Amino acid sequence: MNTDLLVIGGGIAGITAAVEAAETGREVVLVEKQHQLGGRVLQMHKYFPKLCPPVCGLEINFRRIRQNPKIKVLTGAKPTSIEGVPGDLTAIIHVEPSYVKADFTSGKGVENDCPVEIADRFNFGMNRTKAFRLPHELAYPYRYVIDEESAHDPAMKQFIESSGIEGVDLDMQPEDVEVKAKAVIWATGWEPYDANKLDHLAYGRLPNVVTNMEMERIAAVNGPTKGKILRPSDQQPITRAAFVQCAGSRDENHLPYCSAVCCMASLKQSRYIREQYPDAEIHIFFIDARTPGRWEDFYQEVQDDEKTVIHRGKVARIEEAGNGMVTLTAENTLTGKLEQVSVDMAILATGMVPTVAVDAPPIKINVDEFGFIQNNGTSVVVGAGVATGPKDVASTNEEATGAVVRALQMMTGK
Ligand SMILES: Cc1cc2nc3c(=O)[nH]c(=O)nc-3n(C[C@H](O)[C@H](O)[C@H](O)COP(=O)(O)OP(=O)(O)OC[C@H]3O[C@@H](n4cnc5c(N)ncnc54)[C@H](O)[C@@H]3O)c2cc1C
Repeated sequence: MNTDLLVIGGGIAGITAAVEAAETGREVVLVEKQHQLGGRVLQMHKYFPKLCPPVCGLEINFRRIRQNPKIKVLTGAKPTSIEGVPGDLTAIIHVEPSYVKADFTSGKGVENDCPVEIADRFNFGMNRTKAFRLPHELAYPYRYVIDEESAHDPAMKQFIESSGIEGVDLDMQPEDVEVKAKAVIWATGWEPYDANKLDHLAYGRLPNVVTNMEMERIAAVNGPTKGKILRPSDQQPITRAAFVQCAGSRDENHLPYCSAVCCMASLKQSRYIREQYPDAEIHIFFIDARTPGRWEDFYQEVQDDEKTVIHRGKVARIEEAGNGMVTLTAENTLTGKLEQVSVDMAILATGMVPTVAVDAPPIKINVDEFGFIQNNGTSVVVGAGVATGPKDVASTNEEATGAVVRALQMMTGK
């Protein structure tokens, strides 16, 4: 493939960069390692501060991609090598098979009979899903997939043969595609910080301690409980919930930096609970609230809610309290008093780790001490989105558009 711009990462940053570049008349190849575009945004229940569903924004972008022949999308794909200089780069993109032919989209409902089930990674393993499935109702590309580990399961083979589905090829092989490009944008985003490392907060030991990203999936209508927020241990309704801010963030032993969006994410999620349970009590434990600019209004709204209590103190520990409840202990730094609150569910506001730090790119990229890309003009690639630092979607879009301008300059040498 020959192209002008190669974009690695099909989250909102990569999608925006691809669309903006293509709409200036450039050829673009967009590479995404999952079998669908959208990245983390697709996993969100609602967007702050408007509390609208993120899929609306994604759908508009998917339409822009669908209607623009200048954009080629490779999913299930990752670069394994990139060589050359801006203006003349060669990348090898490794494409994993989806085992389902591109023109097969008529399987709706047939997956219900699939006997092979796997942990649903999209929902952080909180439920199981069919191994033969559409990755998402609004998946782009709208294409069924079978996971690698299930494609070789004899039960899958038998199911495909007995059901007479013709669009599946269980012998499909991976392939390497050579892409020649003039510039590369790196938009590989972030991974949630591993809450298992926060021993004092009992994640993994107490089922009613969940992370903020799990909370997005729990609240989502296509999530593990179909959008009903219930106590994970026994599916009981929520009478009281607590948010633990800076769970591992701004902490020398974990992530020393602030992830910029966690305060807003928790304030938003407190609304998810109050919408479903008008009488539920919410406790938010902050070191301080980082809600700059227009976000301050949203923080004020939550503060004004008489059933929401804001504690200024870092949670020191979470323990079992019996009856499925968990108890949080924190020192309130305003009053100097030790506070204890027992709740049905504790939500840990864990931060964002740059994917570059956990999955090294096959090309040298300048990063800071945490693995965020430095756009200081010395890398062959241009970073965009959370790959360059924690940020919300609006800032991601702005930066991705700027990255296109920088990439266009690199292509032409001007
Ligand atoms: C709990 C929580 C709630 C949030 N809620 C909001 C909100 O309400 N509003 C808001 O504005 N922001 C919110 N955010 C922030 C938002 O998630 C980010 O701004 C957004 O995800 C940034 O998009 P991105 O494209 O940079 O990264 P990502 O969404 O991480 O996308 C990166 C993409 O790159 C792909 N990728 C990774 N490595 C490779 C590779 N080697 N090759 C190919 N593809 C690769 C990934 O699969 C992924 O699809 C929230 C964050 C958190 C933690």
